[in-house]
Amino acid sequence: MASPLSADPAPELPLAPTALVLLVGVSGSGKSTFAARWFAPTQVLSSDAMRAMVADDPNDQSATDAAFELLHTTASLRLARGRLTVVDATNVERWARGRLLALARRFGRPASAVVLDLPVEVALERNAARADRRLPPAAIRRQQRWLRESIPSLPGEGFTPVWVLTSAEEVDAVRVVVAART
Ligand code: GDP
Ligand code: MG
Repeated sequence: MASPLSADPAPELPLAPTALVLLVGVSGSGKSTFAARWFAPTQVLSSDAMRAMVADDPNDQSATDAAFELLHTTASLRLARGRLTVVDATNVERWARGRLLALARRFGRPASAVVLDLPVEVALERNAARADRRLPPAAIRRQQRWLRESIPSLPGEGFTPVWVLTSAEEVDAVRVVVAART
């Protein structure tokens, strides 16, 4: 079951220190902002940053395969060492999540999901206001449909815990707590 967070005014979002954490959300849902707020830059593997690393352009879609190869390789090397690894990509496609889940399994690490399930209008507005990069609204709506299909299946795929944040207020309120290493 996805965990409801609504009742608590400052709910904690606990994560294991060895976990693979997938941020899940459409473009403009705030994944990179959330990642920057709660995690060290070295803990965050961003598909855009990986595109930039191989092609000098985070928007170069022709670099997507190479970017994910780099992302998966880096994630493997981190998970082998038991380092918390946060994947900042849309992760709205089941097959894409499956590849990441397989890495977590290979190294015996827990896989968790933090879903930014904001109203699609919020993402569309932010996308329209964006200076760096703008997707066609239809692409965001398509991601939103995949997101809706994804949410109920995340626990069954093997993600635990699954945290679903449904408003900007909820995103602002939560506090990520990484448990101490034992
Ligand atoms: P991503 O595409 O999911 O990585 O989303 P980003 O984190 O890049 O955010 C997209 C846009 O929304 C950026 O211009 C952010 O500054 C803005 N944004 C992200 N989170 C918030 C938020 O909590 N509140 C507001 N007002 N804007 C946000
Ligand atoms: Mg981003």
